[in-house]
Amino acid sequence: MPMPPKPRSGAPKPDLPKFKPSQLLWMAAGVLLALNLLYQFGAGPTPIPYSQFEQYLAQDKIARITVAGDIIRGAFKQPEADGTTGFTTLRVPSDIAVELAKHGVEFSGAASGSLLGTLLGWVLPPLLFVGVWLVASRYMMGGRGGGGSLFGGGLLSAGRSRAKLVAETDVQTSFEDVAGVDEAKAELHEIVDFLKRPEAFERLGAHIPRGILLIGPPGTGKTLLARAVAGEAGVPFFSTNGAEFVEMFVGVGAARVRDLFEQARKLAPCIIFIDELDALGRTRGASPVGGQDEKEQTLNQLLAEMDGFDRSVAIVVLSATNRPEVLDPALLRAGRFDRQVLVDRPEKKGRAQILKVHLKRLTLADDVDLDAIAALTPGFTGADLANLANEAALRATRRGADAVALEDFAESVDRIVAGLERRSRVLIPRERRIVAYHEMGHALVALAIPGIDPVQKVSIIPRGVAALGYTMQHPTEDRFLLGRNELEARMTVLMGGRAAETLIGSDVSTGAADDLVKATDIARGMVLRFGMDAGLGPVAWDTEQGQFLNEPGSFWRPRRYSEATSREADDAVRGLLNRALERALAILRDNRKLLDTTAEALLTHEVLKGSEIPCPKPEIRAEATVLPDPPDA
Ligand code: ADP
Ligand code: MG
Ligand code: ZN
Repeated sequence: MPMPPKPRSGAPKPDLPKFKPSQLLWMAAGVLLALNLLYQFGAGPTPIPYSQFEQYLAQDKIARITVAGDIIRGAFKQPEADGTTGFTTLRVPSDIAVELAKHGVEFSGAASGSLLGTLLGWVLPPLLFVGVWLVASRYMMGGRGGGGSLFGGGLLSAGRSRAKLVAETDVQTSFEDVAGVDEAKAELHEIVDFLKRPEAFERLGAHIPRGILLIGPPGTGKTLLARAVAGEAGVPFFSTNGAEFVEMFVGVGAARVRDLFEQARKLAPCIIFIDELDALGRTRGASPVGGQDEKEQTLNQLLAEMDGFDRSVAIVVLSATNRPEVLDPALLRAGRFDRQVLVDRPEKKGRAQILKVHLKRLTLADDVDLDAIAALTPGFTGADLANLANEAALRATRRGADAVALEDFAESVDRIVAGLERRSRVLIPRERRIVAYHEMGHALVALAIPGIDPVQKVSIIPRGVAALGYTMQHPTEDRFLLGRNELEARMTVLMGGRAAETLIGSDVSTGAADDLVKATDIARGMVLRFGMDAGLGPVAWDTEQGQFLNEPGSFWRPRRYSEATSREADDAVRGLLNRALERALAILRDNRKLLDTTAEALLTHEVLKGSEIPCPKPEIRAEATVLPDPPDA
C-alpha cells in the first residue's frame, strides 16, 4: 500500500530558513542607513538662516546654544508658535555678517562639504562592510557558481537550486561507450529495463532497488556508466555532485535536496545522479571539529527523500564514490543505496576493450596491437587509457607521422607511468614481483591448510584505494561459530603474504600492514574475548561490542584488567602471531618451487583463478607447532 511520504524524525522542518542571513543583513543595513539620515536631516531642530539666528539673538529668544565647528545648535527660551523648541544654523563669518545685517540681507552658511559628500560619508562605510562580507562569503562558499553577477551564484540565491538542476533529456552516452566493466554493466542492465518499462516489474509486485552506489577508484568510468544508464533507458537525467549540496548555511543544502527530488518526481521515470557522494554522505559526527550541522541536515534530507518516495514512482538514484569507507552507514541501509556495484580497475582483457573504444577515432599504423598495449598498462584505469590514446596521437603528430604507431603508445605509457608512480598507483616491476609473491603466499597457504575457505581468485591489479593486490577466499557456507583451529588457520593465511616476502629474501615491506592488523584482531579476540588462551583462562577480559551501527563512540574505554594481565595478554597475542607466521613459512618452504612458478604466472596473467593454481603439498603440522588444547576443549 503506498503510504504518503512521511518525514523522518530528525529531518529538518520544511521551511526552516524563513529569512536567509543575506536578507537579514540587507534589512539591517537599510534600517541603519535610514536612522542615520533621520538623525541628520529630519526631526531634529529646524534649520534656519544665520540672519534669522541673529534676529532671534537680538530678540533675546535664545536660551542656550552649542557651537560645533560651523554648526550652531540652539534652544529657545519658549517654544515658538509652531511648536519648535530649537534650531540649527551654519555660521557665517562675523565680519561679513555685520556688513550683511546692516543692509538687511538674509544670509545663511553652508557646510564646506557638499550634500553629496555628506551622503557618501554616511553611506559608503556600511556599503563597504556589506561588500567585503559578500566577497568573503562567496570566497568561503568555494568560489562555486563561477561567473555571473556578484549576487548570481552566491548569497542571494542561497536556498535556490543551482541551474544545473535542469534534467538532461537526451543523453547520448550508451553502454557501448563504456568498455571492460562487464559485471557492472550486467547489473545496471536490469535498472535500464525497469526505467524503460516500470509497469512490467510491478506486475508481480517486485520493485527495483531505488539506490545504486557505484564504487571504484577514480577514473574507472563511474560517471560515464551513470550517463550510459540514462542514455540506454532514454529517461531524463539529473546530474549533480555531492559537493553542490554542501553549503555554509544550515538548511540550504537540505532545501536543495528537496528541490531536486520534487523536480524529479514530476519527470519520473528518471534518474538522479549524485556524483562523489562522499562529499555529502560522510559519517555523521565523525569530525571532531564542529560545523557538521549543515551536512547532517542535508544528509538527513536525502535519507528522508529516499525513504519518502513511493515505490511505484520510477526514480532511480544513482550515485558514485571512490571512498565507500567514509560513507554514513545509514546511507547503505536497505531501501537506500543498498545495491552496490563495484567498478574496478580493468584487467588485461578489459583494458584492450577500453582501448578499442578510445582508438576508434585515431588513425592507427598496422603494427598497433591492442593486446600488446593492454599488456603494457597494468593498473591503468579507463581514464588513464583515454589519456594514453591521446598522448600517443599527440606524439605521432609531433613526429609528423601518418598514423599512430605502437612505438608512440609504448613511449606514452612510460611517460604516464612515471606520472602515476608518483601518485603510487602503478607499480614498478620490482614492486609487482613482491606483490605477486605476497599474494601467492596467501593463496598457497590457504590451499595447503585443509578445511579452510577455498581460494577464488588471486590478483595483482591494484584495487580500491590501498590494496596493491588481493587474494579472494569465499566461504563455502555461512559460518557463525569459528573454532580455535579455524581462527589459527585464518591467521596463518594472513601471515602467508609476509612469509612469502621473507622467503624471497626481500626486505619485509609495508604491504603486509593490513594483514597484520587483521591477524592481530583475531589473536586479541582469541585471548581477550573468547577465552582461548590456556594461560589467561576462560575469562572474557575484554567485552567490547562492535559499536552500534558504527557510530563513533568515545575514544577512551576503561581497561578492566590489571597491568599484569595486560602484559600476559600481549605476550599471548604475540605468541599466537609468531606461531602463525612460522606455520606459514613452513608451508611455503615446503612448496618453494610452486611459489616461484605461480608467482611468475601471476606476473604475466595478473589474475589467476583458484582452479588455475596447482595444489600445494598439504600442511604437515610438526609437533612443535601443535598447541596444547585449552582446558575447556
Ligand atoms: P570516474 O567517474 O569513475 O572517476 P569517469 O567516468 O569520469 O571516471 O571517466 C573519465 C573518462 O575516462 C571517461 O570520460 C572516459 O573517457 C574514460 N573512461 C573511464 N572508464 C572507461 C571505460 N570503462 N570505458 C571507456 N572509457 C572510459
Ligand atoms: Mg566521476
Ligand atoms: Zn596480504
